Amino acid sequence: MSMKQYLLTPGPTPVPDRVLLAMARPVLHHRMPAFSKIFNEVVDGLSWIYQTAGKPIILNGSGTVAMEAAVVNLMSKGDLALVAHSGKFGERWVELCKAYGVGVVEVKAPYGAAVDPAAVEKALADNPGVRAVFIQANESSTGVRQPYEAVAKLAHAQKDCLVVVDAVSALGAWDIKMDELGIDALITGSQKALMLPPGLAFIALSERAWARQPRSDLPKYYLNLATERKAQQNGETAWTPGVSLIIGLAEALAMLKEEGLAAIFARHDALARATRAAAVAAGLELYAPGAPSPTVTAIKAPRLADGTALDTDLLVKHLRSSYGVSIVGGQGSMKGQIFRVAHLGYYGPFDILTVVTALEMSLKDLGCKVELGVGTRAAEEILSAWRKQAKADAAPKK
Ligand SMILES: *Cc1c(COP(=O)(O)O)cnc(C)c1O
Repeated sequence: MSMKQYLLTPGPTPVPDRVLLAMARPVLHHRMPAFSKIFNEVVDGLSWIYQTAGKPIILNGSGTVAMEAAVVNLMSKGDLALVAHSGKFGERWVELCKAYGVGVVEVKAPYGAAVDPAAVEKALADNPGVRAVFIQANESSTGVRQPYEAVAKLAHAQKDCLVVVDAVSALGAWDIKMDELGIDALITGSQKALMLPPGLAFIALSERAWARQPRSDLPKYYLNLATERKAQQNGETAWTPGVSLIIGLAEALAMLKEEGLAAIFARHDALARATRAAAVAAGLELYAPGAPSPTVTAIKAPRLADGTALDTDLLVKHLRSSYGVSIVGGQGSMKGQIFRVAHLGYYGPFDILTVVTALEMSLKDLGCKVELGVGTRAAEEILSAWRKQAKADAAPKK
């Protein structure tokens, strides 16, 4: 297919040319000083993104591998975990814990809603044996921002209870201060806000979590974080790392530093607001209006002229086949019911305008009632106001 393609999904996300070119450099041997130098720089950069004094651990694999590492390094057989969830990624915590024989107390909310901290508080009071609370920062399957800050506080009020946050589609896109919030394990992956292809996962542990790690008796070898920590303190990894991805990460971190944390967070916030405003202006209904995510906007199935709902899988397919725009639909029971627009990682204002314009055209093509340009206009208003403010913020102070 010769049509120009736009990858605008919540992971993998677009990779900047600078990063692609860096990854085309010759592969280095991972036990040589040239690689160690890059590795150490990358770990420092990750500490900056994590807002921690600690050193995040780099693992090979997709984000789930770091989730698994959290379970097998922090829990023991027969331990009790509390999983606070309302989506497919939260359900992954439940499945992972059960796979290793860890007992699970579930605190659920309906899809499209955030978990209620009061319900977590009650479940912790009812289950004083809970050794860790697992939650997402961003529930990517529903576009919900979870209240991990409040949940972290509740976990810390318990005796010997850690808080583990899956921030795979959040870290590096909005402000998550690991140390200040007291998060004990914070997880992300390469293919989201960090602007890389899939293949690396990251996990940082607090001192309390490192103190717990040697006591954990769950089976582990490749994912033994103590082994990795020992190697990574010396600028190496225990096993062969994804060398080219790590070289790419050095470039991605350089780009993020040039932009600065505050500007990165403001950009994601503006893109999210523009997307939501565009959807509403175009007559669509948000799926998670109560706790909208700064990185993924979930939108309910549009209505056809006869009032019935349009299958969102058809909409997603039409965007791809007619306009070359790749977005995603709903997962599990949300399949066909919602679609999701990402604004995560290497995204700028014209990525949002591309999606919104293609969406309006597709709605018209497929027989929905829509006035072309109304969503685009709503997005433009927000995006131009954000650029104006960003330029003023970046101007040298007199
Ligand atoms: C992408 C993502 C993951 C990781 O999924 P992988 O396919 O293993 O990379 C985990 N949690 C959330 C919230 C995500 O968005």
